[in-house]
Amino acid sequence: MHDAVDRIARRFRETTRPFSGASRAELQSLVDAVDLDGPGRGTAAAVLEADTLFAEHAVWFHHPDYAAHLNCPVALPAVAAEAVVAAVNASLDTYDQSTVGTLMERHLVDWVTARIGFPAGDGIFTSGGTQSNLQALLVARDHALATAEPLPGAPDALRRLVILATASSHFSVQKSARILGLGDDAVVAVATDSSGRMDPAALRDALDLCRASGSVPMCVVATAGTTDRGCIDPLAPIADACDATGTWLHVDAAYGCGLLVSPTRRHLLDGIERARSVTVDFHKSFFQPVSSSAVLVRDPADLAPVTWYADYLNPAGSEEPNQVDKSIQTTRRFDALKLWVTLRALGADRLGEMFDEVVDLAARAHTMVEDDPDLRLVGRSQLSTVLFRYQPAGLTDADADALVPLVRRVLFQSGRTLVAKTVVDGRPCLKLTLLNPESTDTDVRRVLDVVRGAASALVEEARMLAPVPALEAEVVL
Ligand SMILES: *Cc1c(COP(=O)(O)O)cnc(C)c1O
Repeated sequence: MHDAVDRIARRFRETTRPFSGASRAELQSLVDAVDLDGPGRGTAAAVLEADTLFAEHAVWFHHPDYAAHLNCPVALPAVAAEAVVAAVNASLDTYDQSTVGTLMERHLVDWVTARIGFPAGDGIFTSGGTQSNLQALLVARDHALATAEPLPGAPDALRRLVILATASSHFSVQKSARILGLGDDAVVAVATDSSGRMDPAALRDALDLCRASGSVPMCVVATAGTTDRGCIDPLAPIADACDATGTWLHVDAAYGCGLLVSPTRRHLLDGIERARSVTVDFHKSFFQPVSSSAVLVRDPADLAPVTWYADYLNPAGSEEPNQVDKSIQTTRRFDALKLWVTLRALGADRLGEMFDEVVDLAARAHTMVEDDPDLRLVGRSQLSTVLFRYQPAGLTDADADALVPLVRRVLFQSGRTLVAKTVVDGRPCLKLTLLNPESTDTDVRRVLDVVRGAASALVEEARMLAPVPALEAEVVL
């Protein structure tokens, strides 16, 4: 253990870029060279291999030149707790396997539900936002099926269920719909305003249309922090529309949940307390190691559809608090300890300030991009993403679009700077997700400079290959 800690600490001290830049072929041959049927080589050698094979080529989310996906650097108290979690290896399915851990998890769930504004709420830790969304949609589905009025001559109720979300909602909503047996077109995209936020008037129309056409609105999914734009759907007007029609409101706050502890921005989540279920992802905006997520409900009875009793585990009528009664997992890690230790070490306010710091940094990054004649900002974010393109005067939209994947790939291959790409309103763009509270304006400027340098080199290269007219040639590049 000490050896592993020393090695990883050295990596953190000495790593100078977010990725080694090794090619996939190179990494594949390193992995293929390992014979898993070979004799044991001892813990020291195996730990060394974890360092030289894995850590050497891992992607380092703490590095200020990592600005790609929704991965946060982790709070050290949580890393220390992770070692305790793994070593004790409690399983939180039943009380007799975790005892005080069960009580600590429940205390933490109560803390989160209080922050949301569910005074009598309940919930459970899960493996991630995808599982949290799946479980929320599962219980919403069962509620809809239990309450849907039969429609003579219509297909069975399951096929009539509809989930209303925006095109910017997370893809786990679609995946859940499929897993839950809904029709392929069950997720209906509600129109948005120009920044990608759900339009409440369009939601009311969509709910009316559902009913008129014999569909059953199973659930409205509002996203509090979209993965790309970091936008928060207008929760209170959406809750009004749901209340007026008796529709289940699920708020996916996988990204925006950090606002629950923000000393300055908690109001951005106003209305979340009117949801019936909420997803939070502590491994997105609470600086927790993967996995750490939870699904919360306003009414504890709503978790009942996942309850099943087994004589060997959680017999019916048991008086012990068996968390498995509320989970779709059985054996389950004590991930809650990581958040517990983090809260006790830093305090909720400090955690919230850390999230505020990355949101503030992103706001300044938006201005940097706007002020840069070579870059174009693709809308502002309410959280910590920065969407932009390299497009100096004279470069057509088509060329700017074609450059996006090329720039991202060149940077990835260099290992120096990692950025993401996505598509907004039908056009590709580059994306920074800033989640490192220690990153500075200088760090962001350096990332933008590297992007600009790579993009202009690609344009030059295309012009040299096909001097005039260069435009199509750039696309071919
Ligand atoms: C990341 C994300 C999810 C999925 O969470 P995982 O932890 O990756 O499973 C769901 N919803 C939103 C809005 C997200 O950003």
